[in-house]
Amino acid sequence: MRGEEPVVIEALKMRALPEGSYDRLFEFLRLYRDALQMVVDRVWGISGKLSKKKLHKLFYNNLVSMGFRAHHAKEIYIYAKSLVDSARSNSGRKPVLRKLSARIDKYDYKLDLGNTTLALKLHNGYEARLRLVTSRERVEKFRGWGNYELVVKYEDGEFWVSIYFKRVAKQVRPRTVMSIDLNFDNITLTIFTLDGRLVKLKRFKTPHRKILTHKIWVERTQKRYPRSWRFIKGVRKAIERHGERIKNISWDYSHRVGDLVAELALKYYSVIVLEDLDELRENNKKGREFNKKLGLWFYRRIQFCVEYEARERNLEAIKINPKATSSKCPRCGKKLAEYEYKVLRCRKCSFIGDRDVIATINLYKKYIKKYPRCGVPGVTLNTPKPNENPSGMQGKRDEAMKHIKLYEPI
Ligand SMILES: [Zn+2]
Repeated sequence: MRGEEPVVIEALKMRALPEGSYDRLFEFLRLYRDALQMVVDRVWGISGKLSKKKLHKLFYNNLVSMGFRAHHAKEIYIYAKSLVDSARSNSGRKPVLRKLSARIDKYDYKLDLGNTTLALKLHNGYEARLRLVTSRERVEKFRGWGNYELVVKYEDGEFWVSIYFKRVAKQVRPRTVMSIDLNFDNITLTIFTLDGRLVKLKRFKTPHRKILTHKIWVERTQKRYPRSWRFIKGVRKAIERHGERIKNISWDYSHRVGDLVAELALKYYSVIVLEDLDELRENNKKGREFNKKLGLWFYRRIQFCVEYEARERNLEAIKINPKATSSKCPRCGKKLAEYEYKVLRCRKCSFIGDRDVIATINLYKKYIKKYPRCGVPGVTLNTPKPNENPSGMQGKRDEAMKHIKLYEPI
């Protein structure tokens, strides 16, 4: 019901030793680079839209007459087009290719995982045989996956091969719903059963403050040298160093959270419910907060890793519009008011709860409402009907949420 089945893609990069002379492989890589450059040059000069059909018409015969096989030709013009597209939207400069690197379609190579050998079909009917340098364990993982494309390159005196594998992720049937609320200083996560029982509540601290410190430093420095910072070597280097730190902190954190969250989801067979960040924007308090402080990139990075790790474990991750999730009473739907620091209260029904936990409960409710057929697609009909009022809000007042201040170190 959610479109096509999700696919997991992974590359296996290995050093490759040509058997016998590698002159032909060299020749092929040079020819490939020159052909790619030629197509890039031509495509660069064309301003209108270029369909695959048009590309084929423009370049196919030419490339084949240079000695390339049919699928080589296809790879070359499609790759060239994507290089031009990304250069246009980034630097605006025409790509100049120096590295010796070729993308090769699955029809133009034969991989023997058992013997870790590879046969590449080259130009003019030549072939190159390569021995792949790797461990059995690394290769074993990809048995049963489909391989579809590879990149062969020559770098620092050595040949390298990256083979792309993919498999369809078979979904695990969810038994619980894990909803995740991203905030400036913490990530709050709850797991509810389909009939609304709270089974888990967890919080992780975020490194946002640390990131912000680096970011503020960069912005101040750029303000101090508004035009010249790019040209003063010391300043530029220092800015790059802080940027590097931000990158490392955020990726490192995102990977670890993604892994922890997905492991937990696997343990409870959860479907993971995330806030749809595209729906946040300016019209929303949280959106404004995010944009002012950091922009959404860090949240996107975290979500990217959560989704990736979920897919790796055959779990589903779904995004839900987070509008009003942190301001509405999860019991009666009225607007909540500030009660204490980060604690909200409903004037109508006296519900009291932690702001972030409330957000996760509302996400859970929205998910159940959006996928009402027993809560989750594929769940058998005799499962109990999802409860619209999870246990966090049964009882007279809120019990579970009020004073939760536990944090997971990460
Ligand atoms: Zn209420």
